[in-house]
Amino acid sequence: MITNPTETPCGATHPAWCDRTRCTANPARQANGYRPGEGGQHRSAPVRLDLTCAFPLPANASEAYLTEAVAPWPCSTYLHIRTGEDEVFMPVEYAAPVLSALMMLAAAAEAARW
Ligand SMILES: [Zn+2]
Repeated sequence: MITNPTETPCGATHPAWCDRTRCTANPARQANGYRPGEGGQHRSAPVRLDLTCAFPLPANASEAYLTEAVAPWPCSTYLHIRTGEDEVFMPVEYAAPVLSALMMLAAAAEAARW
């Protein structure tokens, strides 16, 4: 159910970041009503993360990618960070301030080195 007619449902179009080879979005699967997980999701290409210098030592296979579910209402885009079997994910609107804060900390540490 669309609660606001000016809102755009998820899945109607592929976001610019969507990697069509990884995308499982299919809004037609929900033509007869919303069912969780049935509409698939848009997925970005993974970005490989080198976390081999992090402690405790994670698995070598670490990556980040975006997803957006298909639903009849606007959805958040999620940032996923996976290392080995562990994964965290959060809406990008919450991830961006966290990542900015981490960038500021790293920049301050780098600036203090010289
Ligand atoms: Zn897509």
